Amino acid sequence: MRLVLISDIHDRPDTVPPGDVLILAGDIFCGDDAASLRSDLAWIKSLGFKNALAVLGNHDLVLTHLLKTQSETARGLLASAGVTLLQDSDTIIDGLRFYGVDWRSAAAIPAGSDVVVSHCPAKGMVDQRQPPTSEHLGDGWLAKQIEVVKPRLVVSGHFHGGYGRAERDGTIFVNCSLANEARELANEPQIMDLEGAKASREF
Ligand SMILES: [Zn+2]
Repeated sequence: MRLVLISDIHDRPDTVPPGDVLILAGDIFCGDDAASLRSDLAWIKSLGFKNALAVLGNHDLVLTHLLKTQSETARGLLASAGVTLLQDSDTIIDGLRFYGVDWRSAAAIPAGSDVVVSHCPAKGMVDQRQPPTSEHLGDGWLAKQIEVVKPRLVVSGHFHGGYGRAERDGTIFVNCSLANEARELANEPQIMDLEGAKASREF
């Protein structure tokens, strides 16, 4: 299964490569009005992915507000663009369990999650600013949970300078921020191929 990972858009990328699942790891819908949100969703739909999964970032303000005040409308807009919003919830695609952490949530990530999407990275992994400093800015609680749940992949953004990937204890951590520290479109969407759950696990 090919996953295409993006977050933290300043400008839209020229191309988004094809894949099976598009993961939107937050700060995608950063405009300041409903028209901008609709335009972003139309763009996502035009990319033609069969599955698109999103979590909220701290700059997805219009969508966050709409979800609080006009939940039905917000969910209708997302559904019509084929976007599944994960807010401390999960969805299963081809046997893989995708869990989305809501912004600033401290909810427990369920055991058996294969892919965890969290706008804020886990502390210690792909969570530094550029130029790199010794300071790790990610979420300590998330890091503790990842150690226990041991998902195959953690997808994040938020700290633009952390763009890249790293691995620890069999978990791959990807920061897929398309914008750099100067908020310019600088990075390519990340691609991750995962085998389906049944092919890679013993029951
Ligand atoms: Zn952010």
